[in-house]
Amino acid sequence: MSFEFFPPKSEKAEQHFWQSLEKLAPLDPRFVSVTYGAGGSTRERTLRMVRRIAAETGIEAAAHLTCVDASRDEVDEVVRGYKEAGVRRIVAVRGDPSNGVGEKFTPHPTGYANAVELVAGIGKIGDFDISVAAYPEKHPESANWEQDIDNLKRKRDAGAARALTQMFFDNDDYWRFLERVEKAGLDMPIVPGIQPIHNFSRISAFAAKCGASMPEWISSRFEGLEEDPQTHALVAASLAAEQVTELVDGGVTQFHFFTMNHASHVVALARVFA
Ligand code: FAD
Repeated sequence: MSFEFFPPKSEKAEQHFWQSLEKLAPLDPRFVSVTYGAGGSTRERTLRMVRRIAAETGIEAAAHLTCVDASRDEVDEVVRGYKEAGVRRIVAVRGDPSNGVGEKFTPHPTGYANAVELVAGIGKIGDFDISVAAYPEKHPESANWEQDIDNLKRKRDAGAARALTQMFFDNDDYWRFLERVEKAGLDMPIVPGIQPIHNFSRISAFAAKCGASMPEWISSRFEGLEEDPQTHALVAASLAAEQVTELVDGGVTQFHFFTMNHASHVVALARVFA
């Protein structure tokens, strides 16, 4: 298992971050990753959190990195900062356009243009374990599946060790994606990204922005639960358990959990395959 966190903004949120991490640590994750805000907005916070995770918890830390609105030199400097901090794992993603998800992406004039270039650039600086992103429902900017899978192949050829998927809520999308990957002769772990639905309205809005579809049958399970957080939490936990159980039954052995900095759902889910 690996767990994804985002860098907290306030002191209180930071306390919560460390408490969640403490609860998740006994699950012995392969790594804990910390996201990188749009346009490098969390650059210092991401670095500070991964540095502390690496130094204080004994858990391997992975730093996310994007190439939005930054020159190659600026990105390379961040990579060197990770290297000096003893961070050996990077989740390398292009990043979303700074004017919003779904808008046209314009690379920085002297920057890395996409994740393939970013992965190759990171590899020149150090011997990092690099994860990249994959999309069971296709990246919204890919013209077709062929282009999408070819892009993933190029990320692997540039040095990526594995792909972590975008959230998905219908396991058939994941199974079909694995088939496409296999058919293309692409031999690389495709680790499913699991998003427990802590807050239906927020997660469904975010999913829509990322091009991840929310099946009608899931939406209907949350209907009328806006003012009933306890039942909402139970529904979310049972849905995530159903999803993970089915994936485990289908032979999946690695998972990446989007924790949103909360531990309880993931702690419960880990028991599905304990
Ligand atoms: P790429 O692999 O570069 O692909 C983007 C699109 O461009 C694809 O459609 C691809 O087919 C197309 N493309 C690539 N190269 C070419 C080319 N040469 N010609 C034509 N088309 C091309 N975002 C953040 O801002 N911070 C994070 O920390 C973060 N973490 C993430 C973690 C995970 C597990 C996932 C799944 C996503 C994460 N993202 C994050 C979101 C990610 O930045 C977006 O999904 C982004 O839109 C694409 O990133 P990518 O690395 O997949 O891009």
